[in-house]
Amino acid sequence: MGTARIRIDLGALVANWRALDAQSANTTETGAVVKADGYGLGVDRVAKALARAGARSFYVAQAEEGAALRNALGRGATIYVFSGHMPGDTEMIRDLALVPMLNSIEQLTRHFEALPTHPFGVQLDSGMNRLGLEPSEWRAAREIVVQQRPRLLMSHLACADDPDDPLNARQLGQFRDMTDGIHVPRSIAATGGILLGPDYHFDMTRPGIGLYGGLPHADARSVVHLSAPVIQVRDVDPGEPVGYGATWVAEIPTRIATLQAGYADGLIRAMGDNAVLFAGDVPCPLAGRVSMDLLTVDVTHLDEVPSHLDILCAHQGVDDLAEAAGTIGYEILTSLGPRYRRSYV
Ligand SMILES: *Cc1c(COP(=O)(O)O)cnc(C)c1O
Repeated sequence: MGTARIRIDLGALVANWRALDAQSANTTETGAVVKADGYGLGVDRVAKALARAGARSFYVAQAEEGAALRNALGRGATIYVFSGHMPGDTEMIRDLALVPMLNSIEQLTRHFEALPTHPFGVQLDSGMNRLGLEPSEWRAAREIVVQQRPRLLMSHLACADDPDDPLNARQLGQFRDMTDGIHVPRSIAATGGILLGPDYHFDMTRPGIGLYGGLPHADARSVVHLSAPVIQVRDVDPGEPVGYGATWVAEIPTRIATLQAGYADGLIRAMGDNAVLFAGDVPCPLAGRVSMDLLTVDVTHLDEVPSHLDILCAHQGVDDLAEAAGTIGYEILTSLGPRYRRSYV
């Protein structure tokens, strides 16, 4: 097989959902965020596995993503759309029974005019200044909006991955000011918020990255295994360069393996020599730049070069690779791209 492969452990995914679910009270529902094709892992399989485990509320970023998800889940699940009700989305929202999280007075107006009896939620800005109604807008609109019985009032935390950041408590206070006393279910916690403790759990949590094995869910089981096939092995003499720009030069007689996978597969070029690959338990450093479709790896120390080397495995998780590339696990997962052969266990 000439293509790099990703193995997705649906059992680990489900175990991660259950572990996050177990951290909140029984009265708190645990949703599942499956935007960006289930963080790059395939929304169909991911969502079905989570639904089988008991998840009933799913979140996507935009209405288009709701189509694939509705297809996977059928009519039973509730699908919330973070971007709300955008121009041109009305038919999709209605026909696929999506629940838009309305973000502005403009969206509220659009929704009530176009689909006056269709379910909706409201997103409030508690301090991140990204999406949602500002406190002053909410004060002006809330009486009328609450009469229309929103399904959910939600907000999002800017710094939940850092429990010591004072913005967490400030946002929580702002969210409470905006919503206390209203009899509508509430949600503020994504993965990081769940770990901040029960004050942040309210009626619904919205974990994403923690399901897929990424930080800040430090106790997560790893979900993704990625390996790339060796196409060719060559010996290079001291003084010979490897790869674009001839940035890497052999100092001793070196054996180089060339692998099928590159930055077009989300193996970010900036990881450079910081990332390693693994032959079983043995680390093998990258030698030279990451190409679009290829990696060159120093395998001099191996007795035998295996058919594949591992990139994401027990020795190097999503966040390790992210650190090598100067980014976060979220970006590694969602960059993986369509070229892999994905299998599910
Ligand atoms: C992406 C997202 C989530 C999930 O966040 P994680 O950090 O991946 O758990 C939850 N809520 C909103 C509004 C989001 O955009």
